Amino acid sequence: MSELRRKWITAPLLKLIKKVLPPISETEREAMEAGEVWWDAQLLSGKPDWDQLLSMGPPQLSEEERAFLDGPVEELCRMVDDWKISFEDREISPETWEFLKKERFFGIIIPKEYGGLGFSPTAHGEIVTKISTRSICVGVTVMVPNSLGPGELLMAHGTDEQKQYYLPRLADGREIPCFGLTSPEAGSDAAAMVDRGVVCYGDYKGEKTLGMRVNWHKRYITLAPVATVLGLAFKLYDPDHLLGDKEALGITVALVPTDTEGVTIGQRHLPAMQSFQNGPNWGVDVFIPMEWVIGGRENVGRGWHMLMSALAAGRGISLPSLSTGGAKMAARTTGAYARIREQFGIPIGKFEGVQRRLAEIASVAYVLDSAHKTTTRALDAGHKPAVITAIMKAHATHGLRQAINDAMDIHAGKGIMDGPLNYLGNVYRAVPVAITVEGANILTRSLMIFGQGAIRCHPYLLEEMLAAENPDTKEGLEALDKLLPKHMLFQVKTFIRGVFHGWTGGLFANSPRGVGDAAKYYRQMDRYSAVLTLVTEISLLSLGGELKRKEQISGRLGDVLSQLYLLSCTLKRFKDDGSPREDRPLLEFAMRAGLHNIEVSLLEVFQNFPNRFLGQLMHFLAMPWGHSIHTASDRQSHACAELLMEPSETRDRLTRGVFLGNPGDGVDLVEQAFDKVCATESLRDKLKKGGIRAFNREAIDEGLERGLISGEEAAELREAAEAVNMAIQVDHFDHLGSGNAEPQSGTRAAGPL
Ligand SMILES: Cc1cc2nc3c(=O)[nH]c(=O)nc-3n(C[C@H](O)[C@H](O)[C@H](O)COP(=O)(O)OP(=O)(O)OC[C@H]3O[C@@H](n4cnc5c(N)ncnc54)[C@H](O)[C@@H]3O)c2cc1C
Repeated sequence: MSELRRKWITAPLLKLIKKVLPPISETEREAMEAGEVWWDAQLLSGKPDWDQLLSMGPPQLSEEERAFLDGPVEELCRMVDDWKISFEDREISPETWEFLKKERFFGIIIPKEYGGLGFSPTAHGEIVTKISTRSICVGVTVMVPNSLGPGELLMAHGTDEQKQYYLPRLADGREIPCFGLTSPEAGSDAAAMVDRGVVCYGDYKGEKTLGMRVNWHKRYITLAPVATVLGLAFKLYDPDHLLGDKEALGITVALVPTDTEGVTIGQRHLPAMQSFQNGPNWGVDVFIPMEWVIGGRENVGRGWHMLMSALAAGRGISLPSLSTGGAKMAARTTGAYARIREQFGIPIGKFEGVQRRLAEIASVAYVLDSAHKTTTRALDAGHKPAVITAIMKAHATHGLRQAINDAMDIHAGKGIMDGPLNYLGNVYRAVPVAITVEGANILTRSLMIFGQGAIRCHPYLLEEMLAAENPDTKEGLEALDKLLPKHMLFQVKTFIRGVFHGWTGGLFANSPRGVGDAAKYYRQMDRYSAVLTLVTEISLLSLGGELKRKEQISGRLGDVLSQLYLLSCTLKRFKDDGSPREDRPLLEFAMRAGLHNIEVSLLEVFQNFPNRFLGQLMHFLAMPWGHSIHTASDRQSHACAELLMEPSETRDRLTRGVFLGNPGDGVDLVEQAFDKVCATESLRDKLKKGGIRAFNREAIDEGLERGLISGEEAAELREAAEAVNMAIQVDHFDHLGSGNAEPQSGTRAAGPL
């Protein structure tokens, strides 16, 4: 029987797979093999095992990590003046640099034995989140040495000697690292770099030494202008066969002290008016001893693999932390501002149009915070989920863009006028940077999330592809023959499950115990996991390697997978928080928006599927009733927006980790005004009952004269009105340009008070 199967089914199939699948390049293979799959594989199994996710519990900080957040991180936030950094000095002050070094901010991930802090990914994330709510520039400066760069690469791949020398020096800031991968020719397609090294003998410290002569031009490199050591990626060649038979040895990563002869470094780019250090560097015929390769001679040609492995985890921390911080800051400040800013006699947050945007900000902050917590928790547990971290990078930065855009629109002129009082403008300008780095979002969405996710998360596909690629056809055939029956059984189950849940709208889908009335959302998640798995199977079968080029299809399927991930984290967080009733509006809004997006993406896949018949068939099988989940109703939006405009545990829980400003800062003024306005609401009501809607000195005096409020109440109201007046001010300048810009912050306009 198995002989017959092999001859009549497996062998023709092997031929077919070879034909439809393009060969996997070495760099693609390394990217796909880096890291691992985790909850994403469950979501693409069609039947996620919720216990696996929910039993993980919420992230925890150690006492030492908590103390660091409450101590040095708070102190750092207090000492940083983002306006001065960004618009006056265009760099971080020497005192701040010293503080960062002294407190080992550059050694967050470096183990204690090497003098670092040795903190967990969760602590690392919380630190970057908080700093970023104060200053993106300082956030990036702390983030970079702790993410994809020399420190991380040395820890994972360095020789003992390299670790002993560099890690203590990186931890206390004696060495400032940067990492140079990008060059003018090679941005997204970094593996296509033309930076080149040739193996040769050279003179190093007066001795004939085996090494490489390297030429390069790198650009956009963060911290390069101040770096003392450059992590350099280049392609290495060995034409004289000094290392062996192979001539093209592949991408290699070395650590190059920036004062090495032939290195030019120090110039700065100005990325979107952000003042973190970033610039180009060049190397002309630089001789690099072989020992400078990270991991030594053994790691020659393994650079791409090393980078991809580092990216698999690192991408889940830095930019998601920065983005979560930005979204939470937007939620906190915009809710407060919408409460204190009145137009047409009422707080702008009471207008339905504004409310919808407020609700969107709250929901984005809630989802990002949930996903960030779950992802760093998974990293704490030792997972390295490459697809999930790509989802986090792309969606966290995109979420930040949405939240900041809405926050800017609600703040209107107050968000636009730059100056020390403006707490939004710099985050707004930084968004494209976050979107572009560590895998630009369009590429990440279109190629990586589903393109790699579908293959990696699939229980059999990657193995089948490797079997098809096996140069030993007999061995490949045998491997495929073993996989085939399992894969076919999986397909049958996938088909039944997908069609059943599709037709019954998830009514009978699975939900874990103890989740109360959130069960309805778990069922929808189960339903769409089953549907996505079905659609994935059909897409892979019909498009094969073509799927890689069908970026619109792949991107939309990636969106479905991403939403499933983000929403599962949101459900988990709601449960971890004890399923608080008061947080339900956030959950409702987020779940409805995400599930709705899933439906939109799937319908667009069906509509645009290259094979029209298959597109319609999938529609008929998986979503016969079309849209079934609507975005949040106006009532739900209202409830969600209100959460940002009232002091409450929910608001504090949602925005925990936001630095609330030094006294007199823009954020502080809005916070103060918000507290005072909320505390005097009942007094305002007394005035309103008497027909007085305005909120200024004359109005308060009139209320007092008419006996609507007491003298004490009038004083309280005056204080609140004064706080509002301070909070709504923007800066103005006598001169702009050539360093003469002297802000006149917080000055009261000749207004009603
Ligand atoms: C502020 C800043 C800091 C940086 N820091 C560093 C650093 O420290 N070290 C370092 O090595 N690099 C760094 N970079 C480089 C960064 O990683 C690159 O900018 C990024 O990889 C994109 O390259 P590019 O800008 O050349 O865009 P391009 O590669 O030219 O891409 C342009 C657009 O095309 C899209 N695109 C490209 N290929 C595809 C595809 N196949 N499918 C769909 N869309 C595609 C991209 O998504 C992008 O939207 C930094 C960049 C910036 C802006």
